[in-house]
Amino acid sequence: MPDPFDWIDDELKSLQANSLLRKRTTRQSPPIAGMVQIDGRQFINFGSNDYLGIAASEELVLAVQDSVSQLGVGSGASALVNGRGTLHHRLEDELARFEGTESALLFPSGYAANVGLISCLAGKEDVVFSDSLNHASIIDGCRLSGAKIVVYPHSNIEELATRMENAHQFRRRLIVTDSLFSMDGDVAKLNEISQLAASHDAMLVVDEAHATGVLGANGVGACELLNVDKNVTAKVGTLSKALGGVGGFVAGKASLIDFVFNKARSQVFSTALPEINAAAGIAALEIVAKEPERRTRLETHSRELRHELTSMGLDIGNSTSQIIPIVLGDSEKALATANRLAEAGIYAPVIRPPSVPNNESRLRLSLSSQHSKKQIDILLNFLAIM
Ligand code: PMP
Repeated sequence: MPDPFDWIDDELKSLQANSLLRKRTTRQSPPIAGMVQIDGRQFINFGSNDYLGIAASEELVLAVQDSVSQLGVGSGASALVNGRGTLHHRLEDELARFEGTESALLFPSGYAANVGLISCLAGKEDVVFSDSLNHASIIDGCRLSGAKIVVYPHSNIEELATRMENAHQFRRRLIVTDSLFSMDGDVAKLNEISQLAASHDAMLVVDEAHATGVLGANGVGACELLNVDKNVTAKVGTLSKALGGVGGFVAGKASLIDFVFNKARSQVFSTALPEINAAAGIAALEIVAKEPERRTRLETHSRELRHELTSMGLDIGNSTSQIIPIVLGDSEKALATANRLAEAGIYAPVIRPPSVPNNESRLRLSLSSQHSKKQIDILLNFLAIM
């Protein structure tokens, strides 16, 4: 008798044959950007989104320690039932102040924030315009909404404008974009996009996941950097990258946040973010406000590394940030390069389809303010002799 699950073995074999099979690794050290131990081996880590180097900081650890003994670990229920505590309330207020919006709402993750927000802002009579390189959580939110999805070529404003002109038969229009693209490290053309949103009476959602804490004079993100808050309906952020913890959020007008709280299914039907993570989020926002030198150091590291890699003739795409891809083409080549770096004690994640388009497999270097100059030089020296 054939086993009805035999097809899974075939799928796994096909992933393996195409250099697309991922294996689970286990880290034996904190998730920091400097030295980490993975599966028993030491690496310089260029695979962490802990851009400000605070995920294992004393400040965040103490914030969690102080709150856990009083608040416990779980949330017990969704935020709509009684899963929401004083620290959630305080962090939402602080996030709204930070983002310059009337209100903010926490979600268990950035993924849940995007899926919940987008799927309740658009419905089957509407159209969503989505950049071709948007994050999977945006794509999934668009699909769940049931709206007509128009994917425009990455950052191509002319194409977006043309497609918007041809979409006035829909009830409502929504544009959604990453602000700092997660696999390419380039910044969306938010000035042009927000003007198009205004002229076509469209809502605009900007996902600041990789820009929160990093870009802009106060680390608010790309909207702050490019001064485009006016036409932005909602901003999505996450506590899980530069803010060093876990949890997502949506920031916007009070009425929008009330609506999302009532309607977003990933809010309504999921247990609230544990309150200890709100304690960590509050401590992280304090670091962002009080230690701008972390952002400055990150920017300097990023600029220097981009310059060196380009001088070596490597293809870093259009990166202008701390996310620096080295685009290598096919998955086999990318995997082989990552393996050779790993043998030299350097961890650089290899990113393959479906995370990036076919034939654009790459190493994705994530820099942190806490990387030392020496660690970056080791990476460069090794790449130079490869
Ligand atoms: N948006 C973007 C652009 C992301 O890169 C990610 C995480 N990779 C998310 C949203 C989801 O955030 P989280 O990890 O907090 O679920």
